[in-house]
Amino acid sequence: MSELTIDFQKVNNLVPAIIQDANSNVVLMLGYMNQEALDITMRTKKVTFFSRTKNRLWTKGESSGNFLHVVSLTVDCDNDTILIKARPEGPVCHTGEDTCFSEVNTSKTFFIDVLRKIIKARKQESADKSYTASLFAKGINKIAQKVGEEAVELVIESKDDNKELFMGEAADLLFHYLVLLEAKGYELDEVMEVLIGRHKA
Ligand code: AMP
Ligand code: ZN
Ligand code: ZN
Ligand code: ZN
Repeated sequence: MSELTIDFQKVNNLVPAIIQDANSNVVLMLGYMNQEALDITMRTKKVTFFSRTKNRLWTKGESSGNFLHVVSLTVDCDNDTILIKARPEGPVCHTGEDTCFSEVNTSKTFFIDVLRKIIKARKQESADKSYTASLFAKGINKIAQKVGEEAVELVIESKDDNKELFMGEAADLLFHYLVLLEAKGYELDEVMEVLIGRHKA
């Protein structure tokens, strides 16, 4: 993160910085940084802009407390735009919305990736630490059996009209499916490759 080579001359001393949610990849806002704002952002790990309307340095969240905590900071192909992945402490927009771009996709499927990381971490923990860790300790056969059980439970709930019960079993199946993949040492991306490969559009 220290090897940033922004061409400040090219951008009239203000480089645009796109702020993206580090978990969901939702675009949260866009601001401008001068060299000082960029230095402060990298040093404090709190996104700081040079506000063109305030005409001063502006740490996002300085009055609201809704800081943007830097997770990663990268520069585009020709060094004139910054992309920052951040963890927002609260709503990002002054309207109280999570993002300044109200039309952006706020799908929650990103949580599959968050969950995969949590499951990966549990694999290293001792069995008494969590249910997931205890599953890994029991081994692949037991996990595969759980996938089978949850699949059957989902089939049973499909026959009824109870959405809450159906959702619970659908979540159970997806969770145990992800645990099985991890136990086998395979990535969800590899499953996606198979599906993409089958799709002859
Ligand atoms: P904050 O930085 O969150 O403490 O907000 C301070 C002030 O900055 C607010 O009163 C707004 O005028 C402005 N502001 C806050 N968030 C945004 C935003 N996402 N885009 C533009 N202006 C903002
Ligand atoms: Zn560029
Ligand atoms: Zn806004
Ligand atoms: Zn279940």
